[in-house]
Amino acid sequence: MEIRLENLTKIFIDKQKNETRAIDNLNVVIESGKLVGLLGPSGCGKSTTLFAIAGLHDPTEGRIYFGEDDVTKLSPDKRGIGLVFQNYALYPHMTVKQNIMFPLENLKIPREEALERTQDIANLVGIGALLERKPAQLSGGQQQRVAIARALVKMPRVLLLDEPLSNLDARLRLHMREEIKRIQRETGITTIFVTHDQEEAMSISDQIIIMETGKEMQRGRPQDIYNYPNNIFVAKFLGNPPINIFRGTVKNNYLYYGDQKILPKVAPDGEYDVGIRPEDFRVAEGKEDSINIQALDVSVIGRDTMIKFVYGESEVRALVESESLNNVTEINLTVKDEKIHLFDIETGLSLAYMPQLTEEQIKMYGEHHQMMLARDAEPTVDDAEAQLVQKKKRNKKSNK
Ligand code: ATP
Repeated sequence: MEIRLENLTKIFIDKQKNETRAIDNLNVVIESGKLVGLLGPSGCGKSTTLFAIAGLHDPTEGRIYFGEDDVTKLSPDKRGIGLVFQNYALYPHMTVKQNIMFPLENLKIPREEALERTQDIANLVGIGALLERKPAQLSGGQQQRVAIARALVKMPRVLLLDEPLSNLDARLRLHMREEIKRIQRETGITTIFVTHDQEEAMSISDQIIIMETGKEMQRGRPQDIYNYPNNIFVAKFLGNPPINIFRGTVKNNYLYYGDQKILPKVAPDGEYDVGIRPEDFRVAEGKEDSINIQALDVSVIGRDTMIKFVYGESEVRALVESESLNNVTEINLTVKDEKIHLFDIETGLSLAYMPQLTEEQIKMYGEHHQMMLARDAEPTVDDAEAQLVQKKKRNKKSNK
């Protein structure tokens, strides 16, 4: 089942009449049978979008289609959705079997058929042998499987998962990720998976939609988004350790940091925000173009080594293969041209992406970028405290 969101907007208004634009003119097509990860920082509008698709929030504007059906005004129970939350809320007094069968009883499905479907779904999610247990007798992962089975047993057209793995420990999360992927493949149900965990979204999704302040920042295959971020927000949001960003200049197809010539980069002359992912550095061989750096810190992390160095005023991290280093701190590093990302200073847009956008879209991204810069420039609690200490010191001196 294809899901289409057209100009979807949701504005919440609180008692003080303050408006929050939780979804801001979202236009998205989710292909039938795909698993799509809705990813973004806390408060970016992921859950609101999911709840709007589920029918739990009425959109302020825009329309929602399941295939050709306009479901915008349809109540949740008529949409054919299966919903799984972070808190899986099983009925504690019912057995696993009764929990899974519950939605079928509401739908008045004959008991024989309901029992058969319950057993099939329980087998599919790997809890077929636990049907007579009560939720308290299950592990967290098993309880989450029951919740997924309960959502699937209705044979929904769409499966909506809101941070379903947040309550599980790290190992179980990893396992359940693979399980959700498998279950989705086997059932072929169009699935939307909300998470703020980039690794989770990257590993599980056919497609990712990255959201911020209610807007779509980028959509595509996880690896494509990672390799070709459309804007600086996405570049910074994806990747751990994060991408290195610094202000640089391109002159005659060479990248400069201040007056220092760094590496070849084919691009129009100009000033840019430059992004290089730590793992895109490589120890240079022979006479290759390279940056000569003095490592401040070298730490071996298994197969790779993390090198920290300061370049001009910027602290930079490079992740290189351990074998390529011989206990030295002075290192020549290089980066391939296509791994050097250039972003427009005003709009934060990738140079490669900008020509594909309309003026209106460029304006929208530009406003968002300026807002982010202003937000980043706001003093943090630590900054404010440091200023207070400075002020006290100054006052003390002037009183002497
Ligand atoms: P998280 O990862 O923290 O759950 P999210 O991306 O899912 O965040 P939403 O829950 O969709 O974010 O919220 C988006 C914005 O809308 C936030 O600023 C939030 O405070 C606001 N919001 C959400 N629900 C309501 C509501 N019922 N009333 C008013 N504002 C709301």
